[in-house]
Parts: sequence; structure tokens; C-alpha cells
Amino acid sequence: MPDAHTNEFDIVIAGAGMVGASLACLLAESSLRIALIDRNPLVRENEAIDQQRSNEKFDPRVSAISKASQQLFQQLGVWEDMKATRVCNYTAMEVWDAEGTGCINFSADEINQAELGSIVENSIIIAALHKRIAQLENVFPITPFSIESLEHIEREDGSIVKLNADDGQAIRAPLVIAADGANSKLRQLANFECREWDYEQHALVTTVRTQQSHNNTALQRFMETGPLAFLPLHGTVEDETEHFCSIVWSMLPDQAARVLSLSEAEFNTELGAALEFKLGPIEWSDKRFVFPLRQRHALDYVKEGIVLVGDAAHTIHPLAGQGVNLGLLDAKALAEELQRGVGAGRSVADPTVLLRYQRRRKGNNLSMMWLMEGFKRLFAQQDLSIRWLRNIGMNAADKMKPIKNQMMRKAMGLDS
Ligand SMILES: Cc1cc2nc3c(=O)[nH]c(=O)nc-3n(C[C@H](O)[C@H](O)[C@H](O)COP(=O)(O)OP(=O)(O)OC[C@H]3O[C@@H](n4cnc5c(N)ncnc54)[C@H](O)[C@@H]3O)c2cc1C
Repeated sequence: MPDAHTNEFDIVIAGAGMVGASLACLLAESSLRIALIDRNPLVRENEAIDQQRSNEKFDPRVSAISKASQQLFQQLGVWEDMKATRVCNYTAMEVWDAEGTGCINFSADEINQAELGSIVENSIIIAALHKRIAQLENVFPITPFSIESLEHIEREDGSIVKLNADDGQAIRAPLVIAADGANSKLRQLANFECREWDYEQHALVTTVRTQQSHNNTALQRFMETGPLAFLPLHGTVEDETEHFCSIVWSMLPDQAARVLSLSEAEFNTELGAALEFKLGPIEWSDKRFVFPLRQRHALDYVKEGIVLVGDAAHTIHPLAGQGVNLGLLDAKALAEELQRGVGAGRSVADPTVLLRYQRRRKGNNLSMMWLMEGFKRLFAQQDLSIRWLRNIGMNAADKMKPIKNQMMRKAMGLDS
């Protein structure tokens, strides 16, 4: 029997980010006792939400949340909280090729939906999930707990995984779920093999205010050096509600270092030009942050009482805003398989249960990763004939409604 006093549980979820915290909420629907550990303390109730409301600052990290993820947040009872803080629905998306005339326009109207998705600041998502976790009786947050080492213990009643923290704490469970992000310590400690390579691009992120309204449209311009995305935000100043955007500008590492060092005025001018001044001049921009981009995929998601989810299993180029959406689909599939297995009297660490999860998610994640890699390579091409074909292809796809609708439904997570 699990015992909170000896720090033994049915399941330990390592990482209380968007994926780990969502999974804890999903598993709380079972009778399992779950420990949720993180190296950082969980957000105290309303702490981040109040902070976000009280000042005009936006979190530089935002996520394009698909319809499927939105439905999951609704199921968990956290979506209303996020909406009450700050969520910006986008109803259209315009994607175009910097080198030519290729352009595709997506619109929610075309598929009879109210919106294509929503842009939400990561801190708002996490605050809503942590607030929910504080209300759950069978989820025990144990923080700060920074994973240092891992042991497998064989006992009469089965195998147990023991995690040791850098401050001497320890925690045990037959199943440990690694949701500890792209540089997962658990993945490394358990020697999961990964295929990974550098995209040779860095993503620069910040928040900007534009002269013209974004009209709830997400914009993406593909350049040879990487895509530039403008994601609409919902500001709180009366006459400026539709003038803030979060930007993700993927570019070569040298270029990122140079752009990071520009003054605000120089940066605003360069960014405005990079977007072809579609929203007029950039009037203001916040502090800039840069993230190196790597593609990573674990060859297996399951090994000796440890299972990988979210960025711990796969990291993907942010160009289509799919990373956390894939992670949330992992969480949903794993929770379903665990509940089904436990309902049938199996142990949570039963490999047949865990491998069902791997089968459901691995192919799906891989195909999205290859698609992103294909896009990245296609738009990096300097060959004139390929550029010409690319532009023709984009314009043709724009006119083919069934193909376009299928692309939209896939990105929204409505067709998995
Ligand atoms: C520039 C950029 C833009 C992006 N935009 C989008 C987007 O628009 N839409 C989208 O879907 N995705 C997007 N992504 C991807 C998305 O941010 C990630 O997929 C998502 O954050 C992964 O969530 P996670 O919970 O798996 O991992 P993380 O968010 O990394 O959370 C991991 C958690 O584990 C904890 N942790 C880590 N190590 C330890 C340890 N040793 N011990 C204990 N705890 C530990 C951390 O504190 C953290 O809380 C973007 C990514 C980038 C880089």
C-alpha cells in the first residue's frame, strides 16, 4: 500500500509543467495516489494570475492552444480560469513565403468553427493547473525536489523506482512518469536512447505592440533563415486590446545574437520590415529572449517502470505551435491507458499497459516532427526552381478547400 509518510506512492509524476500538471489532474479522476514533484515550488493560488492582472506585462512564453487542448482544459475545469485571466482566440491565420507570392489563408468560418485556437501565456496555463491541483485529494505536490539520481529496487511485491533529490529527500513508486521537459534528467538517468539534431536555428521571443490591430489573426512569414510568427494577444488597455502580439522569430544563431543586441528602436524597425509592415510599424517591444532549437525524439517512451511524456519524449520546432499540444495528447492517452489497465486489475507499471500508450502516441508524434522538419527544409531552399514550385504549391493549396480544411482540422487536433 502506498504511504505518504514513507514517501511511497502509486505514481510519481516528475515535472509540474503544462504536461505533468495536466496529467496529474487527469489521473486524479482515478483512486491512485499520485506524487507531483518539481524542482520549483508550485504556483500558489492566484499568485501568477494576480500578477498578470495587476501589471500590463505579458509572459514572453506563450502557447498556441489547439481546440483539442482547449477541450482537455475544459474537462479538467481549468479553461474558465484561464479565460478569466487572459486568452486570445484567433479566428484566422495567414502564412506566406517571403521569396515570392505563395500564400495560404486559413479561416475558422471555412470549417464552421468559432476560432482556430487560442494564444495563452504559459504562466496563465500553469497557474490555473496548479490552482486545480491544490484542490485534489489524491495528488500530493512535493516541491522543491530536484532529481539527482535513480535506483531500481526489487521487492517481493514487485519492482520499485526510487528517486533521490539533491537535498537528500527520496520518493518511491512502481511507476515514475518523466514530464521534466526537453533536457529531462530522468530520461538521461534511465539511459533512454534519443535521436536528436540541432535545427541550426534559434527562436527569439518577445511581446510587441503594433500600430494596426491584429484582428485576431495569426501571421507567419517563412524566410530562408527561418519563420517569423506574430501571435495575437488580448491586451487590457481599452483602446489597445488588439494591438499586442507575441512573436516567435526563428533565425540563424549568429543573426539571433545580433538581433538580441539591437536597441529597442533598431529592433522594432527590423522586425516591422521582417513582417513587411503588415501591422504597420512596431511601436513598442519588451525584453527579448532566445532559445536554441533542437529536434529530439526518444526511440522508446517506456523502460523499467519509467515512462516519458511531453518534451521529455519529443521536442519539435515551434513553427506550427504544436509542442505542448502533442504533450497534452500524450498525457490524455497515458491517463486513459493507466485507468483502463488499473480497472482491469493490472499494475500501473505493467509493460503491456505502458506499451499501449507508446503505440498510441509515438507514430503520431513522429509524423508531426517529420512534417515540421519538411517545412523547415523546404523554406530553407535557395534553388530557384524549388522556390517557384513552393509558391505554386502554396497558392494551389490555398484554393483547394478540402485539403486546406483537412490541414486546419489536423492543426486544431480535431483529426488525430
Ligand atoms: C520559442 C518556443 C515557442 C513555443 N511555442 C509553442 C506553441 O505556440 N504551442 C505549443 O504547443 N508549443 C510551443 N512550444 C513548445 C512548448 O513550450 C513545450 O512543448 C512545452 O513547454 C513542454 O511542456 P512540458 O511540460 O513537457 O515541459 P516543461 O514545460 O519544460 O516542464 C518541465 C517541468 O519539469 C521541471 N523539471 C525539470 N527538470 C527537473 C528536475 N531535474 N527535477 C525536478 N523537476 C524538474 C521543470 O521545473 C518544469 O516545471 C514552444 C517552444 C519554444 C521553445
